[in-house]
Amino acid sequence: MQTLPFSELGISDGILQTIDDIGYEEATPIQTQTIPLLLSGRDVIGQSQTGTGKTAAFAIPAIEMISRQHGKGVQALVICPTRELAIQACDEIRRLTTHTERIRTAAVYGGQDIERQIRLLRGGAQIVVGTPGRLMDHMRRHTLFLDNVKMVVLDEADEMLSMGFREDIETILRDIPEDRQTALFSATMSPEIMEITHQYLRNPEVVKVIRKELTVEEIDQYYYMIPHSHKVEAVSHLMDVYRPVPAMIFCNTKKQVDELVSAMQMRGYVAEGLHGDMKQQARDHVMQMFRGGHVDVLIATDVAARGIDVSGVGAVFNYDIPQDMEYYVHRIGRTGRAGQSGLAFTFVTGSREMNELRSIMRYTRSEIKKGSIPTSADVMESRRRRFADKVRDAVEGHDLEQYRAMIEEISSLHDLSAMDIAAALLEFEMTADGRTAMPCAADDAAFARQERRGEAERSERSDGRSSRGSRGRRDRDRDRNMVRLSIGIGQNAGIEPRHIVGAVAGETGLPGRSIGRIEIADRYTTFDVPAEAVQIVMEALNRTRIMGRRVTARVFTVTEQY
Ligand code: ADP
Ligand code: MG
Repeated sequence: MQTLPFSELGISDGILQTIDDIGYEEATPIQTQTIPLLLSGRDVIGQSQTGTGKTAAFAIPAIEMISRQHGKGVQALVICPTRELAIQACDEIRRLTTHTERIRTAAVYGGQDIERQIRLLRGGAQIVVGTPGRLMDHMRRHTLFLDNVKMVVLDEADEMLSMGFREDIETILRDIPEDRQTALFSATMSPEIMEITHQYLRNPEVVKVIRKELTVEEIDQYYYMIPHSHKVEAVSHLMDVYRPVPAMIFCNTKKQVDELVSAMQMRGYVAEGLHGDMKQQARDHVMQMFRGGHVDVLIATDVAARGIDVSGVGAVFNYDIPQDMEYYVHRIGRTGRAGQSGLAFTFVTGSREMNELRSIMRYTRSEIKKGSIPTSADVMESRRRRFADKVRDAVEGHDLEQYRAMIEEISSLHDLSAMDIAAALLEFEMTADGRTAMPCAADDAAFARQERRGEAERSERSDGRSSRGSRGRRDRDRDRNMVRLSIGIGQNAGIEPRHIVGAVAGETGLPGRSIGRIEIADRYTTFDVPAEAVQIVMEALNRTRIMGRRVTARVFTVTEQY
């Protein structure tokens, strides 16, 4: 795809200077193609994947237009699906207007004090970026006038439609003079988007940038032919062997996201979900936790994930094979850290999905290798290896003098060999009931505990026993340095494990994974925290709110201490 320097796109010197200051070397493909069209006044439909600079593609022409026309009032309106995207777009536009001081940009979105936004709008903004609901709110209050709008942008249109904003968008568009210019940007195109464009865009030029040189070569791609019922197990085993933390799992439906979040949480992973039915506040919270490194797995639908800027995850799982070949590329594009290749796992069920997978291979011109799900023995083996590595690192990198002295002391006291002592110490690391969970070094202990918990649950299933009580007791035996706390809200308040993890991790900075088993009863909830953090956790919970309610944390049971 051809790209050009910004200086060849018909942009005026002032804005070129700003672009140069920001440090953009050349226009991206979507910018190269859409900026001249928009500058010439055409309506444009622009399709290009996330992260390709669509904001500047419409913002630069909008700024040009405003600085040429010297009009009054709001001149350009940008409609975005979510608060996070509206803020991102507003930030990018403001950066592009640093040298055009006269031009001001206001962002209006739900969840922020409306009075403050009203003051901002009264102050005179030529560019307004907003989410549909809040924009309509301001229109009703007559704090936003659209009579002078010359350019409208529907940003991330696919997501707006999937979030059910179609009517709202239409309501807003009807209030804007017809002689405006309209642009629509989106990462994907659907028939519904085309319908909107027929109705509201005038003879639009369609620009599609579909990357042909997909970056998937850098990604190790595997597929697994498994029945649906084995998928949770498969994710767990792959997570345990590869440890691609944090990982991202994509599902095709919101329901599947919710189910998988619970299933993974039950297995002891810190899993969080993201989908279109969630309130913005809840999404922000999840993203905050994820960015803070408190989440092992983020489970999302394509649409919800498109709204977030996440890359460099350890692995991407296609729990459901993507509905669209382009989604596959979007999804797995999130993996691969700088300099390291990424990992992508795709689950395939049945021959129809196998055919879809073959189309994906043709489309991406890449090989997706057939993999086999690691067995429990593989998981064990990989843990054993990791433990061996940790031992080696400790021997090479730590000062173990005092421990050597202790071993010598034990050895001479009881006439034992170093081998005997090492074996006994290893045994101490094993679980109380002799299950062969592997020992882990201190910083890994919490995760290992959770893994063991997952295994206990798995083996109980195969035993045909699944009573929560018995699992609870056995767990307690295992979580020897954990303390169980309780708070007085439960199912009756709609509480979910992620609220607990969120509150504790968010308030104390403890990694979410250090929180142990969470049990939600009707009117109260109990959960394990590391003994050494009890005080901090209790204090933090007592000054915060969970689901809007004050809570008092109490010690529920002190589990056996070492
Ligand atoms: P999209 O809307 O397509 O997902 P954004 O507009 O949010 O993408 O831009 C993604 C990132 O790329 C932003 O950090 C933006 O500052 C940066 N960016 C935009 N244009 C360029 C460019 N020409 N060169 C380098 N970076 C750019
Ligand atoms: Mg965007």
